[in-house]
Amino acid sequence: MESRAPETGIKVIIVGAGFAGLTAAIECYRKGHDVLVLESFPILKPLGDIISFGPNAGRIIARWGNGSVASQLRPISIRNKELKFYKYDGDYITEQKVPPQNPVTPVFNGHRGEIHEIFFEHAKKIGIEIRLGCRVLEYVEEAGRAGVRVNGETIWGDVVIGSDGVRSKARELVLGYVDKPKSSGYAIYRAWFDSAPILADPLTKHLVENGDTHTGWLGPDVHFLAASIKDGKDFSWVCTHRDEADIEESWSFPGKIEDALKVIDGWDPVCRRIVELTPDCVDWKLVYRDPLPTWVSKEGRTCLMGDAAHPFLPTSIQGASQAMEDGVVFATCLQLAGKSNVATGVRAYEQIRYARCRKAQLLGEETRDMWHKADFDKIKENPDSIKLKRDDWLFLFDVEKDAYERYEEVARELEGKGEVSPPNVVEVAVPTVVAA
Ligand SMILES: Cc1cc2nc3c(=O)[nH]c(=O)nc-3n(C[C@H](O)[C@H](O)[C@H](O)COP(=O)(O)OP(=O)(O)OC[C@H]3O[C@@H](n4cnc5c(N)ncnc54)[C@H](O)[C@@H]3O)c2cc1C
Repeated sequence: MESRAPETGIKVIIVGAGFAGLTAAIECYRKGHDVLVLESFPILKPLGDIISFGPNAGRIIARWGNGSVASQLRPISIRNKELKFYKYDGDYITEQKVPPQNPVTPVFNGHRGEIHEIFFEHAKKIGIEIRLGCRVLEYVEEAGRAGVRVNGETIWGDVVIGSDGVRSKARELVLGYVDKPKSSGYAIYRAWFDSAPILADPLTKHLVENGDTHTGWLGPDVHFLAASIKDGKDFSWVCTHRDEADIEESWSFPGKIEDALKVIDGWDPVCRRIVELTPDCVDWKLVYRDPLPTWVSKEGRTCLMGDAAHPFLPTSIQGASQAMEDGVVFATCLQLAGKSNVATGVRAYEQIRYARCRKAQLLGEETRDMWHKADFDKIKENPDSIKLKRDDWLFLFDVEKDAYERYEEVARELEGKGEVSPPNVVEVAVPTVVAA
């Protein structure tokens, strides 16, 4: 089922069962902590559309359930050979080959809801307690413990993770003030549907008839990505464009196909036909925020994780992957810190994650600007310039190994700054890498 280190006796309360919360839960279980997950949704629904997990996240997934989670994800993930790029008017630019799948660092791109269900079921299967319909109303902390108020009671633990998404409530306690997300200046029309109409249309059938494809069109301050998944049976597209809408109340609305068509007025007929054939779409306002000064509360017993700590632009293609890395580092640091030194472990988690995460976050802005401000004359001379970056520092990183290696040094550094009690590194057997 799942490997588990000796019990640490540390009780971790996790708020939010998104990819950050579920990964933290599974990793905390693996590292011997007690876990309770609280999620506001009353039932699990397959929400969302396309989402990506890079090789750095695949490495984490491949270790779960002795490879069984990765095996379940494979058939529902895209299996394209390349990503083809076109100028908005239909001029072909170039293609970027997809590297062959590596079982140690697999890549998964598929439907968020379907992938989420597999994570969720794995967490349940290994015995993690997940309480649905539990909306946390307040985060509380006292010396030596942290808790949450939910459904009229206060639940206490040794540490609380606020993995409660982009509109996190945990931020109030961690930062000491109310911090609102801001508009990124962009929004995304997005859709996922059965590909039958795409297959039936002579203009678009090449996108699905021979299995999975991935295609991008680049235009002035707009980009459009279309993918077919499950051997061409499902179809998904996203269209990122300027939008300064107020996001005070909500950031996801039903979209209008005619509005999406206005954004790509005069574009390649293939691209326009995809939208015309789409049954319905979502208008997803891209929420962003400046880097937070800290992810950890004063007492070191409450921390932020995933989008609550660092929302990503989709052009980084790392939002979910970085959320997963957070969970691994957190669980590892806590294991090495031990129950008597929880605050050290939590601060070390932040210290280990912060700079790497910020670097990955900036990639999203870089890629967006590279595509949205594309100079097509220059691109003609160097088509490779618009390809997605696949840097080794990001993709080939083993976040678990790194955390085991760096924890002691980081804990000592923190002690030097007078921020924590002396590091008390618990001796643990570092798990061996399991390939899927
Ligand atoms: C409904 C939904 C659909 C999404 N669709 C897509 C998509 O199609 N493509 C994509 O790239 N990204 C999508 N995302 C975002 C993506 O999942 C995240 O960017 C990324 O995976 C990081 O995950 P996270 O766990 O930090 O945050 P999230 O995935 O946002 O998860 C946060 C969780 O916390 C829960 N929560 C929030 N407040 C409370 C509270 N007070 N008490 C208890 N629980 C609480 C939420 O219900 C949610 O389940 C979606 C997110 C959501 C919530």
